[in-house]
Amino acid sequence: MTVAEVPLADTLARPLRDLRISVTDRCQFRCTYCMPREIFGRGFAFLPREQLLTFEELTRLARVFAGLGVRKLRLTSGEPLLRRDPDKLVAMLAAVDGVQDIALTTNGALLAGKAAALAAAGLRRVTVSLDSLDDEVFMALNDAGFPVARVLEAIAAAAAAGLAPVKVNMVVRRGVNEQSILPLAAHFRHTGHVLRFIEYMDVGTTNGWRLDEVVPAAEIISLVGGQWPVEPLAPACPGEVAARYRYRDGGGEIGVIASVTQPFCRGCTRARLSADGTLYTCLFAGAGHDLRGLLRAGASDQALREHVAAIWTRRADRYSERRTRQVSRTKVSRKAEMSYLGG
Ligand code: SAM
Repeated sequence: MTVAEVPLADTLARPLRDLRISVTDRCQFRCTYCMPREIFGRGFAFLPREQLLTFEELTRLARVFAGLGVRKLRLTSGEPLLRRDPDKLVAMLAAVDGVQDIALTTNGALLAGKAAALAAAGLRRVTVSLDSLDDEVFMALNDAGFPVARVLEAIAAAAAAGLAPVKVNMVVRRGVNEQSILPLAAHFRHTGHVLRFIEYMDVGTTNGWRLDEVVPAAEIISLVGGQWPVEPLAPACPGEVAARYRYRDGGGEIGVIASVTQPFCRGCTRARLSADGTLYTCLFAGAGHDLRGLLRAGASDQALREHVAAIWTRRADRYSERRTRQVSRTKVSRKAEMSYLGG
């Protein structure tokens, strides 16, 4: 059997379609909402090289997942372009039977020099993170002194390499960069690139998340739509994380990822593989399943496939939905609660 002939579904009838592969736990940025310097500073113990999955191991696992129904791969991390020769990995993954789409999420710092090789190797799409057009705000957020202009150059290089339209992710945090929403929207209108606003999420205990720092997607859409009227678009594919809108004047498309206020657990077909080979069935799952140990102990493809299938068929995760219900019962403040509910 090369690709999945057996439909695999979890306890909520969700198939396994996407695999997000983290290729390193390192990043040059210290975004305050993601890898804050207080925690990921000099003393932080990143994974030693031998604990990272090799390209051969990643490709073997991709083949196992493709055999269970995965069609889309996304390389992420840390910062995926910090891994040496990412184009070689893309070429290896592109040759896996059943894989139809390979995408990459990056901070853009190393993208300009690598975009052409990545595209030639088989990368189909790229998402670049950019939280403001204002250097002061952006540098305070990335906490690495990285300027906006370099990210814009990376986006242009990706487009020139054939990776257009580029998706641009902006995490919106109240009181930090909400003033950057309209300038970013203005900048990317009529460019063909798709700006996506992401609600600031609680990513564990590391970023000091507070509900009143979440700008709800509904508020973002009404802000942008108040300036340039928008209308909703149908999802481009089942299980899509972003709700899509288009400008009525033909200025292009935007999206909102409302993981906090409108969780999309029901349509979630994504599994996540961490850089050390741990499989997580949800972004918010506290515990994962070690695949590297099995790989390195000599497990056969069949044994790996059965192991992953057993994990997926037991999957019942609905962390975001549960959390949304739990948080909406907690009165953080009247204003926050109302805005959270979209009022
Ligand atoms: N280093 C790459 C980058 O910057 O895109 C890839 C990894 S990064 C973790 C992937 C995406 O997650 C980025 O678009 C980032 O902005 C987003 N992200 C990280 N922490 C987040 C949070 N607390 N809430 C919402 N989105 C977050």
